[in-house]
Amino acid sequence: MTPPLATAPRDRLRIAIQKSGRLAEPARSLLAACGLSWRESRDKLFCYGESLPVDLLLVRDDDIPGLIADGVCDLGVVGRNELEEQAGERARNGLAPAYRALRGLGFGQCRLMLAVPEEWEWTGPAQLQGLRIATSYPAILAGWLERQGIDAQVVELSGSVEIAPRLGTADLICDLVSSGGTLAANHLKPVENLLDSEAVLAGPASGFDDARVGLAQMLLRRVDGVLQLKDRKLLMFSAERDSLPALERLLQDAGPLVQLPGGNGVLSLQTMCEGAVSWQQMEELERAGARGLMVLAVERSLA
Ligand code: ATP
Ligand code: ZN
Repeated sequence: MTPPLATAPRDRLRIAIQKSGRLAEPARSLLAACGLSWRESRDKLFCYGESLPVDLLLVRDDDIPGLIADGVCDLGVVGRNELEEQAGERARNGLAPAYRALRGLGFGQCRLMLAVPEEWEWTGPAQLQGLRIATSYPAILAGWLERQGIDAQVVELSGSVEIAPRLGTADLICDLVSSGGTLAANHLKPVENLLDSEAVLAGPASGFDDARVGLAQMLLRRVDGVLQLKDRKLLMFSAERDSLPALERLLQDAGPLVQLPGGNGVLSLQTMCEGAVSWQQMEELERAGARGLMVLAVERSLA
């Protein structure tokens, strides 16, 4: 069923996320970390925003770009692969771009790759001339082939692309790869990368002109805050002034070492570290004069 066109002004923001699959859980966790909470409908397709007027629509990932294009949803969490494919399809049909990626979200990483039977010796794209390539991403593949100046046949399949060469329906495939395990299990090897993908927060190309503007801005700011803090740790300790040079050398990859007021002769110090702080790093800092070392997760911050 095609959803009705939703053009009336709205004062609630509606975000489409995958109902189940690779992006479902990380999308919900990200939005929850942004301070959103919901009441789920009985059919589990709609979540009513309780903490803020931001509702969720739980759908198939393939439907998300179309829902944004039709104005049924305002934002969506979807793989860049899906967004680019549907944008490519629209372009091929002479339609204007309807959505854009607002933020990369740092999960759902994968690559859209050409993969050939293991026994092939890969000499480069020119080898593809006249061959049949199975894919669920015909627009991205066709665009890439065109740019390479290669005339190959694109065989569109909606699933189980990796078995096409064995079935004889294609010579090679163009599919999403993360660990490469599925390819190896099907005696295929990746040879060309067409697209680096991750989950993105997508929105309409045109933006909003009602109360949703403010809500979308607030959400984006919170998303930025969550993404920035994801791997950050606050390191706190005290030290004598004469240990400072050695400690600063050990912490040269961290942010600036900030001196907190107070303490009788002993300095109270803190710094922001990207990524985990290991036991070994802490022991080295202790040998260099740091005392009372503490590593704290940073929960929230407004830049
Ligand atoms: P739906 O029922 O929502 O249509 P799906 O089977 O199309 O589900 P998933 O397999 O959950 O979707 O993949 C969703 C997205 O996860 C992909 O579009 C892609 O952006 C990302 N992804 C990350 N790694 C992989 C991978 N190895 N294979 C496929 N998708 C991946
Ligand atoms: Zn899908």
